Amino acid sequence: MTRQPPFLPMSLQEGAKLGIRQFDITLITGDAYVDHPSFGTALIGRVLWDAGFSVGIIAQPSAKNAEDYQVLGRPRLFFGISSGNVDSMVNNYTPNLKRRSNDVYSPGGIPKRPDRATIVYANRVHELFPDVPVVIGGIEASLRRFAHYDYWQDRVRQSILADAPADLLVFGMGERQVVEIARRLAAGEPVRNLRDIRGTSYKMEVAEWRSARPAGIVEIPGFAEVSADKPAYARAFALHYHEQDPVRGKPVAQPHPKTVVIQNPPACPLMQEELDHIYELPFSRCSHPSYKLPIPALEPVQFSVTSHRGCFGGCSFCALTHHQGRIIQSRSSDSIVREVIRMTKMPAFKGIVHDIGGPTANMYSLSCDQWESRGACAEKRCSPACKNLRTSHEEQCRLLEQVRGIPGVKHVFIGSGIRYDLALADDSGYLGTVCDHHISGHLKVAPEHITPKVTGIMNKPGQEVFDRFCAAFETLQQGKKKRQYLLPYFMSGHPGCTIPDMIALAEYIRDHNLYTEQVQDFTPTPMSVSSCMYYTGLNPFTLEPVHVPRGSEKKIQRALMQYRDPKNRGLVTEGLRSAGREDLIGNGKQCLVAGDGRNSSRSLHKNSGLKRRG
Ligand code: SF4
Repeated sequence: MTRQPPFLPMSLQEGAKLGIRQFDITLITGDAYVDHPSFGTALIGRVLWDAGFSVGIIAQPSAKNAEDYQVLGRPRLFFGISSGNVDSMVNNYTPNLKRRSNDVYSPGGIPKRPDRATIVYANRVHELFPDVPVVIGGIEASLRRFAHYDYWQDRVRQSILADAPADLLVFGMGERQVVEIARRLAAGEPVRNLRDIRGTSYKMEVAEWRSARPAGIVEIPGFAEVSADKPAYARAFALHYHEQDPVRGKPVAQPHPKTVVIQNPPACPLMQEELDHIYELPFSRCSHPSYKLPIPALEPVQFSVTSHRGCFGGCSFCALTHHQGRIIQSRSSDSIVREVIRMTKMPAFKGIVHDIGGPTANMYSLSCDQWESRGACAEKRCSPACKNLRTSHEEQCRLLEQVRGIPGVKHVFIGSGIRYDLALADDSGYLGTVCDHHISGHLKVAPEHITPKVTGIMNKPGQEVFDRFCAAFETLQQGKKKRQYLLPYFMSGHPGCTIPDMIALAEYIRDHNLYTEQVQDFTPTPMSVSSCMYYTGLNPFTLEPVHVPRGSEKKIQRALMQYRDPKNRGLVTEGLRSAGREDLIGNGKQCLVAGDGRNSSRSLHKNSGLKRRG
């Protein structure tokens, strides 16, 4: 195999220039091809190339045009298919189920990704090349690997593996899995034999399942049961949730009408040297030269660096635990420094590193003693309250200092969110470092809510922790020439949240005079704990009922978060009346909405250190 090219080929001509007559693997993606490590197709393509395989890329093929799928010919080993960096339904529709008019992963933002892109692409490929193995992966396949509630159809769908003509599904980050698949297929193993690869799911015939069911497997309620019975859905969810650990997780099987979907345990975390090696592959950090229009998603990440993977926060509305897992895998600071030095040599680099982070910026290098030997606890959530969690941010501070010192680097920002309970638990001066060097005017934080019931269901720290963080942030502002602000993110419509809870949040926003233009209305995306609650009305771990706001109640909740917006006055008034809170309607100091139906525009508390309305 030739050494890594400046860009992975997107045509036979580009392949021919590299001496390739037939590609080993063709990757098909719903994103434009951007050769940057934060784009999954580029990452997987470079890793496969590094392992000695030639890889061609078909980006954003039309759903119907067969020629789009034939441009690179027939691959020698397999097609690797993904919807791109995002689930196609999340990407194509707003939370209100309206079709979006742009796609930031597409040239010029012009949408090209079909709905259910993974299934569409797999079907086209299978029609044209029926004997070539098809491997699906990426976030869409990963988070739809079991029967799941689909918000866009408001029903339970089968595992995507049962719906798509695919041989294997890769879940999680995928590097180990794709290389093993490629090596074993190249060695002549038939794809139907590849049933023991961690981080993959495969299908088994129902008859075989009945006669030769593998040992040590956790069987969860099947599609027929979970699509008809909500408690069964919740039980199935809790069962597979607990097995998503690479150390203690067992294989999980879920029967479907025509097949049985079996998930092997997750892939083992990458060692630091492996992670360093992958992120130091020669990515050009640019879109493929064939594109005439810019790809909007590149700009915010072009000069950002991934420092680690995984998140042990366990926010209920986030499915990252099912994708990257809870165990933190961190790169070495030397590797990150080398990556930034490479960036400084690029003509487009203006001295600004936009982000050094991962799913949660301040989990870099944090660890627990038992992750390696026993995995992450099944029944316990990781938090600073656990004495086994090492919460020192010293290594992060050292890393940031090193990067700040690189010639050509003017600013290093932290754009990823930070977990404020972890920052509070640290005494290495991390928050001061962040304020002094790594934010401009704002620090984004995500308390999401303030009432104990809702933060408990969301698995977020409570209001008192957020208030302590605000106080610590405020202390750091003293003596600063230029004031900085916290930009808090809150969410409406989450399972467990009632109108009185939202009124309490609105009062908190009022009392702290917060800026709430960034409204998040809960959307049930595949495979999160919250989506399971949304569909079933049950907490999957306790089977206790959970209130689920829907329809007009959900709209009222959203309006309450933006009670100052005149267009929300009717809904806010309705919500306050329904909760018996007429005391907040009128012209009094504390009122959220004026008595004549106009929103109260009072500005209350003085300087709170939080982002205030301008
Ligand atoms: S011991 Fe504590 S930090 Fe470690 S996995 Fe369990 S809960 Fe998480």
